[in-house]
Amino acid sequence: MEPPKRFDRFRDVQEELGRSGAAIFRDANGVESLVIKFPYSTDYIHSYAEDSPFFLGLAQGKLLGTRCTDRRCNFRYATPRAHCMVCGKPTEWVELPKVGRVHSWTTCHYGSEAFLAETPYNLALIEFDGSNSVLLARLRDCVESEIYVGMPVKACFSPTPKYSITDVWFVPDRR
Ligand SMILES: [Zn+2]
Repeated sequence: MEPPKRFDRFRDVQEELGRSGAAIFRDANGVESLVIKFPYSTDYIHSYAEDSPFFLGLAQGKLLGTRCTDRRCNFRYATPRAHCMVCGKPTEWVELPKVGRVHSWTTCHYGSEAFLAETPYNLALIEFDGSNSVLLARLRDCVESEIYVGMPVKACFSPTPKYSITDVWFVPDRR
């Protein structure tokens, strides 16, 4: 069997991997690394447990938060919590408005696999009337220079839900 071919440019290594599945990359210091390519997949089983209603809600076009069952406390969570972080009492589910405002935001130039196709993308903390905490979500259909603190936004829900946080995102509410 022929030994793998050597390359100084990683782009050439990638092309060779597509052909033979193995190549040697020689870096700027002369270090030679054997690089291989093979298919890889896995089935991932995950329980949402107490968070389940949030993801079931997204699939029905609903944003669910929670609120403290102690009416004297009444802390309201836009990011659901099973127990109140203020007083420790259990919470109950409440539906959030589908409109909110940008509390803060950032542009991500690196994304995990689910977001690679839309990277760079904007992530925003969304605040809602009646909530004491914020929700982290993608902000789409706008460019970074258009975004400002207090910007009105509305929720969009995936027509093909996957019971994932990617089932919801926000867009500018240009009413
Ligand atoms: Zn509480």
